[in-house]
Amino acid sequence: MGAYESNRRIKFAYQMEHWSYEKGNPALLRANAKKIIPSEYKTDMDGSLFCPGCFTNLNRVPKEKEHFTNGREAYFAHIRTYKDVKCDLKSIKPEGKRYENWEEAKKAIDDENLVIISSFLKSKPEPKEDQPAIYDETPVEDQAGPTTEVAIGRHNGETFALPSRIKTVAGLCRNFDENLYKYFHLPNKKYAIRLIDLLKSVKTISEETDVPSFYYGKIVSTAHLGEHKKPTNFRMTYLENNAEAVWDFCLKSQDKDQKAHGIDDNSVGRILIVYGTVKQNGTGLCFQGLGWGEFSLLPEKYNHLLD
Ligand SMILES: [Zn+2]
Repeated sequence: MGAYESNRRIKFAYQMEHWSYEKGNPALLRANAKKIIPSEYKTDMDGSLFCPGCFTNLNRVPKEKEHFTNGREAYFAHIRTYKDVKCDLKSIKPEGKRYENWEEAKKAIDDENLVIISSFLKSKPEPKEDQPAIYDETPVEDQAGPTTEVAIGRHNGETFALPSRIKTVAGLCRNFDENLYKYFHLPNKKYAIRLIDLLKSVKTISEETDVPSFYYGKIVSTAHLGEHKKPTNFRMTYLENNAEAVWDFCLKSQDKDQKAHGIDDNSVGRILIVYGTVKQNGTGLCFQGLGWGEFSLLPEKYNHLLD
C-alpha cells in the first residue's frame, strides 16, 4: 500500500535508448527522452525507463498488465539496484528541498531544477510596440524578478540571495510535464517543493483558506450570468467538488477576464490551474479576485497527469 501510494507521484518515466544513470547527462535525457506514462509501457522499453526525479532506472509494476487484479492501475517503481540513490519520489510524504550553500542553489536554478517565485503577474502586460496585433491570446512569458532572500539553506534559518521570477500560471502550464518535477519556492515559504506536491485538488476542499496555494480542478459547467450577457457580467465556472458541506465551487470573475484566458462555454471537461486562496461564496466556495497571471487552463494534452 505504501509503495503504491508513493509511486503514484511518478506520473511519467523518461524513455531513451543508450542512456544510463552512470554515464548519462540528465540535461540530455530531459531534452531528448520520450515521456511515457504507465499505460504506454511496452516490454521492449525495459532498461530504458528513468525516474523524473533521480534519473535511475524504473520498472512498471505489474509488468505484464495495465492493472492489478484489484483494478488499481499500474505504476512506475524504482529498482533495488539503485536503492542507495536518494530520491524523494520514493517516499510517501513529499519532502521540502534545502540547499547546502548558495552555489548549489544557484546551480539548481541554472539547471532549471529550481525556480524562485517572487510573485505572480497581477495585471495583463501592455503589448510590446513591435508586435501589437497578435499579442492578445498568447501566454505571457515569465519575467525576471528581483533578487530575493530565500530561507532554503540546509542550516537552520540560513538564507540565500537568489534571482527570482515573476510567474504566470499559464507559463507553468506550457511545459507542464517538465515543470511537475521542478522545485518551486513560493513567496514566504521555508522550503522549495516539487510542483507535483504543491498542486492540491479542488475536489475535496471543504473550507476557506488564508495562504495562497496551487489548486487544480476539472470544469463541470460554466455560465455567463445576466440577461444581456455583457462582457463585464460575471461568469461562474464550476469545478468538480465532492466535499459534503460544499454546495458548489467556482471560479468567479468577469466573463471578459475568463474569455481572455480561453474559458468559455466550450471549456467543460478542461482542467483549471489556480494560484490563490479559497473564499466563501454563498453556500459554496470560490476563487475570486485572481490576478492575470494566477490562473490558466491546462493544455488538454496534460490532463492525464492530473487525473
Ligand atoms: Zn527517483
